Amino acid sequence: MTRLAQTAGLNDVQREILATVRDFVDKEIIPVATGLEHRDEYPTEIVEGLKELGLFGLMIPEEYGGLGESLLTYALCVEEIARGWMSVSGIINTHFIVAYMLKQHGTQEQKDTFLPRMALGEVRGAFSMSEPALGSDVSAISSKGVKDGEEYVLNGQKMWLTNGGTSTLVAVLARSDEGHPEGTAPHKSMTTFLVEKEPGFGEVRPGLTIPGKIDKMGYKGVDTTELIMDDLRIPANRVLGGTTGRGFYQMMDGVEVGRVNVAARGCGVAQRAFELGVSYAQQRHTFGKPIAQHQAIQFKLAEMATKVEAAHAMMVNAARKKDSGERNDLEAGMAKYLASEYCKEVVEDAFRIHGGYGFSKEYEIERLYREAPMLLIGEGTAEIQKMIIGRRLLEEYRIQG
Ligand SMILES: Cc1cc2nc3c(=O)[nH]c(=O)nc-3n(C[C@H](O)[C@H](O)[C@H](O)COP(=O)(O)OP(=O)(O)OC[C@H]3O[C@@H](n4cnc5c(N)ncnc54)[C@H](O)[C@@H]3O)c2cc1C
Repeated sequence: MTRLAQTAGLNDVQREILATVRDFVDKEIIPVATGLEHRDEYPTEIVEGLKELGLFGLMIPEEYGGLGESLLTYALCVEEIARGWMSVSGIINTHFIVAYMLKQHGTQEQKDTFLPRMALGEVRGAFSMSEPALGSDVSAISSKGVKDGEEYVLNGQKMWLTNGGTSTLVAVLARSDEGHPEGTAPHKSMTTFLVEKEPGFGEVRPGLTIPGKIDKMGYKGVDTTELIMDDLRIPANRVLGGTTGRGFYQMMDGVEVGRVNVAARGCGVAQRAFELGVSYAQQRHTFGKPIAQHQAIQFKLAEMATKVEAAHAMMVNAARKKDSGERNDLEAGMAKYLASEYCKEVVEDAFRIHGGYGFSKEYEIERLYREAPMLLIGEGTAEIQKMIIGRRLLEEYRIQG
C-alpha cells in the first residue's frame, strides 16, 4: 500500500516521525474525517493529538522548545496529514508560516515571547495578506497602519484568513507610510504587524472584529474568516522585525515555504485518491470482471500513480533546496503548480473510477473532489506560479549582449 511516494535518504529520526504521523492519520484522522467535514465541525480532538505529537513545533528551533526539524520533514508530515484530511493540514499550515516568519525575521524579544508558546500549540498563528479586492496582487493592499506615539493605528478589511477564528496571533500585512513617503514602491511601504487576539468571533479585541466563518464548498472544519480593523491599536514592538517597510519581503519568504507546504498537501490528497481508486477498481465488477482488469481503468491507474510519484519528487526537491540554504522560489513554484494540478486530475480520475457512487456522500472521494480545487488557489494561483517560474527562468537563462 505504500509503494508510491517513498523518499530516499531520510535519517532515523525523520523515519520515526513519519511513521508516528502515518499511524496517527490512519487511526485518528481517516476514520472520522468525512463525518466531521460533512458537519463542518472543528477537529478539536485531532488538534489536541497533533499538539501531543509536537507537530505545532516541528520546525521551531529546539532552543524555543520545538523539534528543530527541516522543511523536508515538515512537508512530509503535511503530506501524510493531508492524505487523511486536507483541512487538518490547513490548521497547522498558517501556524507554521507565522512561526517561520518569526524565526527568520522576528526581533529577539518577539521570538522569546511567541515561539515557545507556539511550539506547544498554545499560541496559534494565522497570516493575512488578502483583502476583499485583492489576492494575487498583493501590492494593491489598502489596509493601513499609521504611527501614533508608541503605537500603530490599523484600519482596513482583510479576507480569507485560514484559522481566523481559532488563531491567537495574526501576522497582518498592511501599508505603513511612516518613513515611506507618497510614491514609495508598494513593496517597500508594507509592514507585517503581529496582532494578538482572543480566539473566537465578534469583537475579539478592541478595534478588531472576526465576523464569522465563510461558508465554503470544501476545506471545511477549518475556519476561514474575514478580519476587520477599526482603529486597532498595536504597540510599536509588534512590528515584525522592529522595522517598517519590510513586510512584503517577510510575507513572500513565508509564502515560499508555504508553497512547498501546499504542494505537499496536493501530494497527500492525490495519494489518498489513488488509494481509493485502486481499491474500488478491484472490488467493482462489470462485464464479468473487476473494472481494474479493463485496460481503460488500468491506464487511468497508471496515469494517476505516475502523477503521484512526479508531484512527490518535485515537492521533495523544493523542500531540500530550501533546507540547503539555497533560494527555492523556482522549485517551490513548480512543485506547487504541478502538485495542485495533478492532485485535481488524480482526484477526478478516482472519482470517475467510482462511477455513480463517487457522487454519493457515503464515499470519501466525494469529499476529496470538493477539497482539491482549493489547492489550485491557495498560496498563489496556477497563473501566479507560472509568472514566478517564467520570470526566474528568464533570469537564469538571460542571453548576453
Ligand atoms: C479557502 C481559502 C483560504 C485562504 N486562506 C488565506 C490566508 O490564510 N491568508 C491569506 O492572506 N489569503 C488566503 N486566501 C486567499 C488566497 O491566497 C487568494 O484567494 C488567492 O491568492 C487568489 O486571489 P483572489 O482570490 O483575489 O483572485 P484574483 O487575484 O482576483 O485572481 C482571479 C483570477 O485571475 C487570475 N489572475 C490574477 N492576476 C493575473 C495575472 N497577472 N495574469 C494572469 N492571471 C491573473 C488568477 O490566477 C485567477 O484565476 C485563501 C483563499 C481561500 C479560497
